[in-house]
Amino acid sequence: MSDKILEWLEKNQEKFIKISDEIWGYAELGLFEKKSSRLLADTLADIGFTIKMGVADMPTAFVASYGTEDPIIAILGEYDALPGLSQATEPVKRPIEEGAPGHGCGHNLFGAACLAACLAVKKAIESGEVKGTIRFYGTPAEENADGKGWMINAGVFDDVDISLTWHPWDVNFVIANNFQAMYNVVFRFKGQTAHAAGDPFNGRSALDAVELMNVGCNYLREHMIPDARIHYVITKGGQAPNIVPDDAEVWYYVRAPTLKDVKALYPRVLKVAEGAALMTETEVDVILLGGSANLLPNETLEDLLHKKMEVVGPSQYTEEELKFARQIRKTFPKNFFDNTLATLPQEARPFFEQFRDKEFCDVICPIFGRGITLGGSTDVGDVSWVTPLAQFATACGTIGTPGHSWQAVAQNGMSIGHKGMINAAKILSLAAIELLQNPELVEKARKEFKEKIKKTPFESPLPDGAKPPIDYYKNLYKQ
Ligand SMILES: [Zn+2]
Repeated sequence: MSDKILEWLEKNQEKFIKISDEIWGYAELGLFEKKSSRLLADTLADIGFTIKMGVADMPTAFVASYGTEDPIIAILGEYDALPGLSQATEPVKRPIEEGAPGHGCGHNLFGAACLAACLAVKKAIESGEVKGTIRFYGTPAEENADGKGWMINAGVFDDVDISLTWHPWDVNFVIANNFQAMYNVVFRFKGQTAHAAGDPFNGRSALDAVELMNVGCNYLREHMIPDARIHYVITKGGQAPNIVPDDAEVWYYVRAPTLKDVKALYPRVLKVAEGAALMTETEVDVILLGGSANLLPNETLEDLLHKKMEVVGPSQYTEEELKFARQIRKTFPKNFFDNTLATLPQEARPFFEQFRDKEFCDVICPIFGRGITLGGSTDVGDVSWVTPLAQFATACGTIGTPGHSWQAVAQNGMSIGHKGMINAAKILSLAAIELLQNPELVEKARKEFKEKIKKTPFESPLPDGAKPPIDYYKNLYKQ
């Protein structure tokens, strides 16, 4: 049956490439992926999936389901873009529309590959060769609001047996390493305006509060665990020097290796904010935009994904694609390869040396990184605490392509990205079908999951009753 599935995906690839390119063209920001989510949901509805649109108070979140039997396999698809990264599919920087969003994280490929896999698995269920239910989880706003966390709190993952997903990368590997748990939060200070020279004594500066908050957090760094990370941008700081700003805002990411660590650090950041408000006689409003957990690994599923990656193999590239890669690499920072190596787990670095002079990853990497936490966060982590989950990456760009860059946008909209996407669809399909064929494997993955959860139960980083930050982003993005 595997051969039939691979053949079907191969034969239908133009259809999925078209969907990916459409989403790439829409380049919609998180929580506002209206056309992208609609395209995916309509395609699934057209072939017989039942759709629940707008779940968890997010209009662009949805669940598409096919089948009535157990087990229930979820494939998680993302489709949000990033601000300011508009770029044509060219190896030189050329925005299609200056300042407009672009798919710098390849979520266009991400969503389309998951859709293709769901369609392939549906075909297998329909033919009666396997039994079970396949679901596409349309998970919005990975980049800005941790859409999956809100979906978990709304209970839409409650009956899922196994979750699978992937991510575009520049190499082919099972993502066995951990990522950091995180809070995504805005502090908005309100003060009292005044003439900055005429009667400054009547003013209470919200900008002072922002600055003091940042100073406080920079002192806090010395007294937090070394692997934690705090970073911020000032998103509002006043209008003119001669007006005491009564409204200022700073946007923070607070990260640490585990949910427990970040839950210990976050209240300390809140205290700093309160302290800054107290010092400046301003008021602070805390706007929680999201929060995500670290990943709970599932080695049973990681091994399964690795096996399927070996079956599918790496992409082959044309002379034209190699030429494109050589050209775009000229725009990378000078030491880009060494810089990339430095982000990898120590144990993986000797293996990665082989890519130093290559345009593309031409192998399936062995599993590495188990037990190691890399910088960065993902809301996929949250799902790993409520269902057994594993994910992998396929090469969708030339080696060393910086994340969230115009170079990534360019490749995610052309054949280099498409190849990684079709491979991902094949791997997801083969893995899901094996799970549907083999109940003992589902049981093994679930047993591993249950044992881990028993030791450390999940507590959502998102407080009970909190709602997705749609109004905040509506305002920010002028939607
Ligand atoms: Zn991403």
